[in-house]
Amino acid sequence: MGRTETRSTCCYCGTGCGVLIASEDGRITGVRGDPEHPANFGRLCSKGLNLAASAASDSGRALYPEMRLTRDAPRQRVGWDEALDSVAESFARIIHQHGPDAVAFYVSGQLLTEDYYLFNKLAKGVVGTNNIDTNSRLCMSSAVTAYKKAFGADGPPSCYADLEQADCVLFAGSNLAYAHPVLLRRLEEARAARPDTRWIVIDPRRTDTAAMADLHLQIQPGTDVALFNGMLHHLIWEGLVAADYISAHTEGFAELKQMVRNTTPNMAAEICGIREEDLIQAAEWFGRSPASLSLYCMGLNQSSHGTDKNLALINLHLATGQIGKPGAGPFSLTGQPNAMGGREVGGMATMLAAHRDIDNAAHRAEVAAHWGVPAERLSATPGLPAIAMFDALQQGRIKAIWIACSNPAHSLPNLPQVRAALAKAELVVVQDAFAHTDTTALADILLPAATWGEKEGTVTNSERRISRVRAAVPPPGEAQSDGWIVSQIARRLEALLYPGAASLFADTEVASVFDEHCALTAGRDLDISGLSYAVLDSAGPQQWPRPAGAVQAQARRYVDGVFATANGRARFHAVRYQPPAENVSAHYPFRLLTGRLRDQWHGMSRTGRLPQLFAHRPEPALEMHPDDAERRGLQTGDLVRISSKRGQLVLPLATSRELPGGTVFAAMHWNGQFLNSGGINETSQPQVDGQSFQPELKHAASR
Ligand code: SF4
Repeated sequence: MGRTETRSTCCYCGTGCGVLIASEDGRITGVRGDPEHPANFGRLCSKGLNLAASAASDSGRALYPEMRLTRDAPRQRVGWDEALDSVAESFARIIHQHGPDAVAFYVSGQLLTEDYYLFNKLAKGVVGTNNIDTNSRLCMSSAVTAYKKAFGADGPPSCYADLEQADCVLFAGSNLAYAHPVLLRRLEEARAARPDTRWIVIDPRRTDTAAMADLHLQIQPGTDVALFNGMLHHLIWEGLVAADYISAHTEGFAELKQMVRNTTPNMAAEICGIREEDLIQAAEWFGRSPASLSLYCMGLNQSSHGTDKNLALINLHLATGQIGKPGAGPFSLTGQPNAMGGREVGGMATMLAAHRDIDNAAHRAEVAAHWGVPAERLSATPGLPAIAMFDALQQGRIKAIWIACSNPAHSLPNLPQVRAALAKAELVVVQDAFAHTDTTALADILLPAATWGEKEGTVTNSERRISRVRAAVPPPGEAQSDGWIVSQIARRLEALLYPGAASLFADTEVASVFDEHCALTAGRDLDISGLSYAVLDSAGPQQWPRPAGAVQAQARRYVDGVFATANGRARFHAVRYQPPAENVSAHYPFRLLTGRLRDQWHGMSRTGRLPQLFAHRPEPALEMHPDDAERRGLQTGDLVRISSKRGQLVLPLATSRELPGGTVFAAMHWNGQFLNSGGINETSQPQVDGQSFQPELKHAASR
């Protein structure tokens, strides 16, 4: 094999940067940004620039299937057939004895769309359970729920070109400088070209993004709804709302107006702990700018009131008509590379494929007909979302769980309970590219998966753009693609559950799976029936919707003011501020906040293998304001124990003026591979938003 260059997509954040992978003799030798990819035009951040180094060694990779042959024995290497047979036979036995809802699938926003589609088809079409949820539940389910409630359908209405056209950019709960660095570069270049552009950052911490803002609203954690309602009050009473837009394209404004009547800027500023004039300044810039764009992320979503926070922000856009035009819109950014693809295929416990609903009999019948199974095979009972799924595992209602491409023993809140749940399960199957994660340690069966650079498929980025992911090299050892593993087990399970029936997994070539997925979207709001691998290969990455016959995709949604609701009108929601689930007290006086580091990714399975990515932050830390540290006689480097009602861990202290007094901060990434605990989620809060079921990972009372 000579030297080749393969066009693909970065495997980390939802920006979805295009990459060109150089490879030689079956090894990846270099990665550069794809100058033709419309997400990044050749730019890459530190994580993307180090992709080749992350693929340089097989060390730490899962290379062979492993199984425990008895309950307490260590896992040992087995052949693929033995591992696949064992998973299928165990799942079939449990399904026969306890019903389909006694098994569960916990998958990942890092799976490719085709893999996600196959997992969903296996769970809902073969097993007949909706117990398939994903780590995307921890990431963007509040954004999904709010888009559906406000616009009638999921999906960001904006696109990356809006970054260059916005006059006012409102960052809400997003440290873009760390989480989506390439998008920040685009914004910086846009502001350099148009210096009058205003940046407003809403964040309890003075992050690197906040430090670059024209206005930083350093609100008390969790008070976003009060802030947005106070801003709306000012916009209404100063006549800065778009009355014509409201009357032509929305409903519910009168109720909202009545509700925010009492939320004066003064009251809202007091709740948020900011100056009233700063709140008014933010409202003025947002309302008077020709185009206002908001970019938001986990700071809104990871909350016990995450849906309300999203809706209160969307209210601002609808009230001012800042949507459906260049440079404007409420733009939720996805953390993971393919959280969007998971939403498209319905790979969650609370939805069906192509934005269909589980409780809609016609929708179930459409999906069943597409798969060629009886309509009654698709369960009308919603599945258990992530937190409830692991609760059910601990309670014994779920007996077996199959975890793919995720590390819940590190990333879920309240880790002591998560570990107890996995220990209680009859069977834990883990499918992963990396052998040593906090979750693989608890697996009864380990299935070695191919990873970035080794497999084929597609991902969808934050602006609804679908890009090809291509294999540059073969996987190491006996690792196989996620799609291959799912299909192999699915066929075995079908034979055990429905002997003699035709397989739903007869053609699992990635291009065929993509075609099957596209066909299922026909006539839906995310219609991509006009896409195929041939189109993506010839025309490059494409946004949705792109129905059959369309000559180009839709960059922005709702440009005509017609929304995906039954009457075509967007809906205002009169949401009130509610405090976080857990308040500080004499016993737990600190608000614990969590977030990302610039150069690490999630549970560090990949980035934690590269020394160069530790230069920015070499070790874990609990950050505390210097005044709080001084009052306790603590100094940087001291080992401190942080605890909550759930658990505790020990971290070195770092003082930081980025934080307000009374709060502490820890990065989410550090885990049992680096600490003698599972990381900060030993202490974090499992309380979920009642509408989106997303847990409040970003706020816990602690001491
Ligand atoms: S911004 Fe995100 S997608 Fe782009 S190179 Fe960095 S991690 Fe990868």
